[in-house]
Amino acid sequence: MIKYGELSTKKDNINLFLKQLKDNIAFALEDMDVAIKFDKGRMFITLNKDNFKKVCDSLKKIFGIHEFDIAYKLDSREVDEIGSSILELVKEKELKTFKVQTKRSDKKFPIQSMDFSRHIGGIILKNIDDVKVDVHNPELLVNIEIRIDGVYVYFNSEKGIGGYPVGVLGKGLLMLSGGIDSPVAGYMAIKRGVKLECLYFESPPHTSLEAKNKVIELAKKLAVYNNDIKLHIINFTEIQTAIYQNCPSEYLITIMRRMMYRISEIVARNNRCKIVVNGESIGQVASQTLTSMNVINETVKIPVIRPVACFDKLEIIDIAKKIDTYETSILPFEDCCTIFVPDHPVINPEFEKAREYEKLIPYEEMIYKAIKNHEVIKISNKDKNEFEDLL
Ligand code: ATP
Ligand code: MG
Repeated sequence: MIKYGELSTKKDNINLFLKQLKDNIAFALEDMDVAIKFDKGRMFITLNKDNFKKVCDSLKKIFGIHEFDIAYKLDSREVDEIGSSILELVKEKELKTFKVQTKRSDKKFPIQSMDFSRHIGGIILKNIDDVKVDVHNPELLVNIEIRIDGVYVYFNSEKGIGGYPVGVLGKGLLMLSGGIDSPVAGYMAIKRGVKLECLYFESPPHTSLEAKNKVIELAKKLAVYNNDIKLHIINFTEIQTAIYQNCPSEYLITIMRRMMYRISEIVARNNRCKIVVNGESIGQVASQTLTSMNVINETVKIPVIRPVACFDKLEIIDIAKKIDTYETSILPFEDCCTIFVPDHPVINPEFEKAREYEKLIPYEEMIYKAIKNHEVIKISNKDKNEFEDLL
């Protein structure tokens, strides 16, 4: 039983949110034998004991779920039968203190909530040794909801990961490198309900196949939260080499990033992504000073969202570990930003100089060509073993 938490404050578009959440849950659980029903207050996933653990593990990775309860549905409305069913369930728990809480949404049920809680509490006290009622800080909370379609019993809640259902805010394009920051930035955008596509710039032969595979692996890890993911791969070698050969070395990174931004904006618009997301963090490197951000950002109109802009590296690493991207990110393969790096990149680039220097290369044609030839990989979070179907 899923309670909506933050979602239920979105009054005007609650239906949109709930439908998206339901679709996302249905997608994640599509191979499991479940039925999903929802109304404005609750979502119910009917499952059986065999798939119960798998379903719970999946629910903990779906954004939009703040809390859920493993509820048992009792079909009987007979007070004695309800009492003995609840007693059986409570006996399976280890407890010293408890509290019973009843919510009666079916007003035709003959006993009032408080009286019913007291009655069930009495049964538990009489039949289980050494337990006490503690109304303030009980070890076990016995929740009973009397609804028209049945009586539901559940205990302490499970925590979900919160956020908004993926996709409810539309799409965004994540500039995904092999580093630590960008997968974390992507995760944070997904958490706000943004469905991501990813864009990776490679520079073969200077960047290796291992570097590309590492990015594919990172995209796969993000796909768990994003349902699936489309990864665009742009060959950046020609542009990068032209910059290297023609522009002053201290402006190399500035101009390279201006090109990356331009390409990102076009790929985003072509794929109906409304924002670009990246892993820039204020002050982390020369291209991420406030002046650099201005000079680089002036090349695009699309909003660029930087979820980790104000985080310390250690805070970013904590999240990377939590979402299991850290170990992949620290694999030592060269990225296109780490090759061609000048000894002294400019920290406070000037607009005029950046504009002048980049005119030394025919970048519009090169960008057009790079986008025209770009590769797209679709990554599913449910990659099956290819022999699985044959077994
Ligand atoms: P680290 O996590 O080690 O800082 P990084 O990937 O963040 O690595 P930066 O040079 O700080 O590297 O780049 C800033 C941001 O620019 C990245 O977070 C990413 O969003 C984007 N970016 C950099 N290189 C690439 C690339 N090769 N392809 C796609 N996006 C990139
Ligand atoms: Mg970085």
